[in-house]
Amino acid sequence: MQNPLRNIPSVNELLEIPPLRGMVDRVSHSVVVSGVRTFLSDFRDEVQTAASEFKVPTATELAERIAEWIVKDETPSLRPVINATGILLHTGLGRAPLAGEAIQAMSEVAAGYSSVEVDLATGERSQRVLAVESLLTKLTGAEAAVVTNNNAAATLLALTTLAAGREVIVSRGQLIEIGGSFRLPDVMTASGARLREVGTTNKTRLADYEQAIGEETAALMNVHTSNYRVVGFTEEVTTTELVKLGRDHKLPVIDDIGSGALLDLTKYGINEEPIAAESIKAGADAVLFSGDKLLGGPQCGIIVGRRSVIDQIAEHPMMRAMRVDKLTLAALAATLRLYRDPETVELSVPFLTLISTPIENLRSRAERLAPQLAALDAVATANPMDDVTYLGGGSVPTQQIKTCCVAVTPAVGSVSDFATRLRNGCPAVFGRIFQDRFLFDLRTVFPHQDAMLITATETRPNEASPKNTDD
Ligand SMILES: *Cc1c(COP(=O)(O)O)cnc(C)c1O
Repeated sequence: MQNPLRNIPSVNELLEIPPLRGMVDRVSHSVVVSGVRTFLSDFRDEVQTAASEFKVPTATELAERIAEWIVKDETPSLRPVINATGILLHTGLGRAPLAGEAIQAMSEVAAGYSSVEVDLATGERSQRVLAVESLLTKLTGAEAAVVTNNNAAATLLALTTLAAGREVIVSRGQLIEIGGSFRLPDVMTASGARLREVGTTNKTRLADYEQAIGEETAALMNVHTSNYRVVGFTEEVTTTELVKLGRDHKLPVIDDIGSGALLDLTKYGINEEPIAAESIKAGADAVLFSGDKLLGGPQCGIIVGRRSVIDQIAEHPMMRAMRVDKLTLAALAATLRLYRDPETVELSVPFLTLISTPIENLRSRAERLAPQLAALDAVATANPMDDVTYLGGGSVPTQQIKTCCVAVTPAVGSVSDFATRLRNGCPAVFGRIFQDRFLFDLRTVFPHQDAMLITATETRPNEASPKNTDD
């Protein structure tokens, strides 16, 4: 019987076959050669362990398989996309886009060494939070601050530090689930603290908290119901009332405010979002929020509050596992610096720029784009359409933001095929489907991206093979 290994073509033979030969020029000779070698070595093992009737593919088949395998890593699955969904803080699309100043700061810190944990004045080791602490305390009125990987980490860390092995009292109306894996009762369990539920889903009174306080109580907790509202016959305790109760019993109050606005956003249609400074003013001991929601910065969790409480959290051994890296710190510091000027912050923090764009601007862009899109082969009709959109990122769907879209009916195929093609195009575009039309919602599209929507929608008959996509 013939040894199938002898039928496997050599590296040099394979490199002469078109898909790989072309790739040597496009990618790089050494990347392709090393890819072919690795693939062949795995393939030989496979052949040796396979059944005797194993049929070795032809050299061309093999070259195609190897080319596909190499290409997979050449087109990263994490890549920039145009967000035309209208959802401003789309968790799947990376939440808040960063300000130019934040990008610049990250890039400078990334390119070399930085003073992330040294004091420039003394040369001594210092703490990384100092890069942002003064900005955070000035902007929120708190005494101290600490930064973690995200708000989920901030919650876990605050609960572990302040209440492991003991009870935390929370209203039954606030046992939130944010995006699947973040469920307050589960986070509480993971932290080692015990959840003590009080009140009912719709009504919780101060007396309910008070009656639950006992030997085992470690803290009182208030959680913002970011993605739902209890309406109708309801009653809630304010942070101020909870703080007073906490003081009377020498118990810290943890306030998870969620999205963490630093400014009042009611003029943009965002109501009932707690503002960090107000929670501090009400006296909360630890106020927790995300950096990449309403603040418009990088992904991180921010805890501001009383010095004694923050120090305790910062010194917990788990802090090390949840701390932020230097790039995040640089981006956060640069973003916070933009908030010092209330006059210009709307223009410099992209999330605020997008949410504050007047509807008339969006409408005139939609009116300009619609005929350009309608002229493309791929498009049957394209019309401007007023609509409403939402914040996203775990916020309530009751807060509507005015927007303007271009509604498109594709010339061929279904709307869902059209959406798939745009997602896999260059640049990738995400929109939304409404009543058999594809909507480009301009609320989340930067003006410089308008022209790219046209390029992305154009069908290119000689487009690279669909094998380049990773669906
Ligand atoms: C979003 C949110 C979280 C989780 O924050 P991440 O930064 O996504 O980890 C926790 N609590 C509340 C109330 C939230 O809104």
